[in-house]
Amino acid sequence: MQLPDDNLLKFVDYFKADRVIVEVNQIVSLFNGQCPEIGCHGIWNVTDQKIEGGVLLITHQCSKGREGVWSSSAVIAEKWGQKLYVSSVLLTSSVLVSGNNFEKGSLLVKGMNLRYVSSSFFIRMQSLYALPSIPDLWSKMKEVVWKVFENDVLVICEDGRMDSPGFSPKYCVYKMMEHYLNIPCQP
Ligand SMILES: [Zn+2]
Repeated sequence: MQLPDDNLLKFVDYFKADRVIVEVNQIVSLFNGQCPEIGCHGIWNVTDQKIEGGVLLITHQCSKGREGVWSSSAVIAEKWGQKLYVSSVLLTSSVLVSGNNFEKGSLLVKGMNLRYVSSSFFIRMQSLYALPSIPDLWSKMKEVVWKVFENDVLVICEDGRMDSPGFSPKYCVYKMMEHYLNIPCQP
């Protein structure tokens, strides 16, 4: 099975870009001094800096007039002038796919004063992008899994886990897995 398909390969490339933690001051200092434009003798300055959705945006201007905005992340999509950044998508969706939640993610980054996304931004990203993608991918995977097992006798292992260890449980997660290939099964 080819997962993801060709339409998704550019998003895989976005994902594969290396990322590091950088101190904002270290970056801002790069935007001061001689204007980098060839032949220009103007002085380069930062006129504005902000962090939105975990992305650093620096507005810079040369004393001769040239202006620009630098962002710490590539743009994955643009709609009605609004840019959606790769880092914002990854910051929020990686919390979900690693089995964590917003509070745990926030606590982790708080320990290093790493600027994170707000809870409303997090919820918006989950409901618009991350949550719809998971059942979509899973349904594609299921088609393949069922084909593989089509004419087989299956040995299924099952287990359930309640949200509370002992009393007043509310939610139960029930899983089924093929015994020999360890492939999750779902009717
Ligand atoms: Zn210049």
